[in-house]
Order: sequence, then C-alpha cells, then structure tokens
Amino acid sequence: MKIQVKNPLVELDGDEMTRILWSMIKEKLILPFVDVELLYFDLGVESRDKTDDQITRDAAEAILEYKVGVKCATITPNASRVEEYSLKQQWPSPNGTIRSILDGTVFRKPIVVSNIPRYVSSWEKPIVIARHAYGDVYKNVEMRVGAGSTAELVVRSGAGDEQRLLIHSFDTDGVVQGIHNKEDSIRSFARSCIDFALDQKMDLWFSTKDTISKTYHARFRDLFQEEVDLRAEDFSSAGIEYFYTLIDDAVARVMRSDGGFLWACMNYDGDVMSDMLASGYGSLGLMTSVLVSPKGAFEYEAAHGTVQRHYYKHMKGESTSTNSTASIFAWSGALRKRGELDETPEVVEFADKLEQVVVDTIESGVMTSDLIRITITENSKQASTEEFIDAVATRIS
Ligand code: NAP
Ligand code: MG
Repeated sequence: MKIQVKNPLVELDGDEMTRILWSMIKEKLILPFVDVELLYFDLGVESRDKTDDQITRDAAEAILEYKVGVKCATITPNASRVEEYSLKQQWPSPNGTIRSILDGTVFRKPIVVSNIPRYVSSWEKPIVIARHAYGDVYKNVEMRVGAGSTAELVVRSGAGDEQRLLIHSFDTDGVVQGIHNKEDSIRSFARSCIDFALDQKMDLWFSTKDTISKTYHARFRDLFQEEVDLRAEDFSSAGIEYFYTLIDDAVARVMRSDGGFLWACMNYDGDVMSDMLASGYGSLGLMTSVLVSPKGAFEYEAAHGTVQRHYYKHMKGESTSTNSTASIFAWSGALRKRGELDETPEVVEFADKLEQVVVDTIESGVMTSDLIRITITENSKQASTEEFIDAVATRIS
C-alpha cells in the first residue's frame, strides 16, 4: 500500500547530471512508495528558452499557491551556455527569479554522516547558514573616479530636503560605490530566521560589523534584536537562545563550535561563509538548501549545481559516480513539509525513513566517488550513480 499524500507537490525539473539523478530518484525512491500528485514544471534550460522563461515564473506562482516545491539544479546561462544550447538570450538565474517572487530566505543545511569526516573535526552537528538575499553590494552602483574628484553621498527626502556627506576628496585615481538596504527586507529576513530556528529548535546567531559601520550595520543589529524581542516567549518555551556578535568573533566561534545552530548572515558574509561551511562539512553532495518564504511557502533543493563535468561523461557513455544524497534530501524535505502542513504523520515518517536509509547506506560503506575519497570506512565500495540509488531503494522496501 502506497502512502497517500493529501495535497500536491510542485516539482521543478532541471538540467544536466542532476536531471538524470532527478528522474532516477523519482522513479525508484519516491513514486513506488508514495501516491502524490506532482505539478510538473520543466525548468530545463531549453524549456525556459522556449517559454521565454515564463515557465520559471509559473513554477514560482505554483509554489506560492500549493506551499511546497522541490527543485532540481538548473543551468544559469552565461555566454558559453547561450552558444551551447542556442538560447535566445542569457536568461536570469531561475533561483533568483523564484526567490524574488517568493521573497524568501535561503537556509543551507549539511547532512552529517558518521563515516564522512568533517574537515573541521569539531563540527559534530549541522551548522545551518542563512543569507540575507537583498541589497548591499549585490545592488550597488559604483564607478571609477579620477584624481581631483570629490565624491559625496547625497540623499533627497520625499519632501525635497537634501542631506550630504563627504565620501572622499581624491588626490589620486580611485573607486567609489553606493549601496543600500531596506528595513522591511531586513525585518523579513530576521523573521524567517526566527521561524526557522524555532521550528528546528536551534540557537540563532547573528553577526555584523557594527563597530565599523555604526549606522548601516548597526541598523541590521537593532532590527534583528527588535524582532527577536517580539518572540521572547517563543524562544524561552523552545529552549533556544539568540546570540549576537561581531562577524569576526562569529567566524572564530564557528570554527571551534560543535555545530547545532543557525547562523544568520548579511548578504556578502552569507555568500562567502556558505561556501566555507560547505567545504568544511566534506562534500557539496551533502549540502541541502531550503527557501523559506514569509508567505508560508517552502522550496527544497540540493545546494550544488548541475554537475556538468559528470554529465559530459555520461553523454559519452562513460560510467558516472555522482552523489544523489542532497537531491534525495530535497525530496524528503519537501515530503516532510507537505506531511506537516497536511497533518499526515505517515508522510513525515516516510521522509524520516528515506533520509535514515540514505545515511545507513553510506555508513554501510556504499557510496559515490566524492565520498570514497574522504571516508574513514575501509573496504568501502564505490557505487555508480545508479548503483547508489538502487542500494538505497533496496533498503526502503
Ligand atoms: P556544480 O554543479 O556544483 O559542480 C562542481 C563540482 O563539484 C563538480 O564538478 C564535482 O566535482 C563536484 N560536485 C558537485 N555536486 C556533486 C555531486 N552531487 N556529486 C559529486 N560531485 C559533485 O558546479 P558547476 O559545475 O560550477 O556548475 C554547473 C552548472 O550548475 C552551472 O551551469 C551553474 O549555473 C549551475 N548551478 C546551479 C545551481 C542551482 O540550481 N541551485 C547552483 C550552482 C550552480 P568533480 O568534477 O571534481 O567530481
Ligand atoms: Mg558564493
């Protein structure tokens, strides 16, 4: 008897090697065990090109409507991809498009497996990282200026008054940059992080450089604190804490911690630190990602890309050994959330079981090449892409 899923799941297909993994996971690990209506959107680059990217916007709207989506990795076209796939143009990043429609925060969470050592050996538990995805240097204006130039910051209020600050009088050639952020975006980021920390019962850390940026970064610090104060009772009943510190102190503490908390980062810090954390935990194939929208919608995916190099091998008919763990956890994450929202505990149990079985498979010594290189299990067996998924399937049934 298959487990019945009450409401549909929005499925976003993708590109290259992850597209190959995707259909294997669906056919071998999901559909044989659960009866779920999948609202399918093909976000493969050719389909995005054919629909002038409308398919991406439609998929995001469907996630807003049905609340839970699961997404395969997708190509973000650059010049060489435009040529490779004869695209009409360099379509924007699908993740960027979806994020702007869902207005969400991305949480990245590593999968901890006992026989895969962390490069940072103290990290026994996952460190989840959240990146504020609006503004700062990612929405900057900047220019080169010549010697003799004077740069000023000029702000005209709605009423027409002007405020001016001298940035610098240049006696040599130089560069200037203007950045901004918005209080509603900062608050919405803080709320997403608070909700996630409460949901996962993890302490929440936040860090900025407010000793140097006494207005801009300090505003982030103060807004975060205000939002946390509004939820003080929830924090104490969940038994979790809020901890604010300087970004450099946070980095030092993260390196010697044993994990088990959520680290909220400003945009640039999150960009840099999420790659540091991913490699610290061992393999990109063990990093998952969830986009949480303040509108109550969730999108699950693997944090890695389409694994292009493996795909080209696959297309030449060579055997591949691509790690499907993070993609499987995207499916289990989406199913668990679906089960929670629908109040169907048997769906949640299936998601838990699927994840446990994947971890058990790796711990038994069956794993893909990226993990074989680093595992502490002697006589482990390298599985091909398909053999790994088959080994997981055998353990479910
Ligand atoms: P990538 O797909 O993450 O792969 C980079 C390298 O990391 C691979 O060549 C492989 O190393 C290793 N790797 C990543 N995932 C793996 C897995 N599951 N199993 C085994 N090894 C894994 O990054 P990329 O090659 O730079 O990007 C390819 C495409 O993905 C690009 O078009 C980019 O736009 C897109 N992308 C999409 C997303 C997304 O949709 N969320 C995110 C990032 C990138 P070895 O080759 O050494 O085995
Ligand atoms: Mg980055």
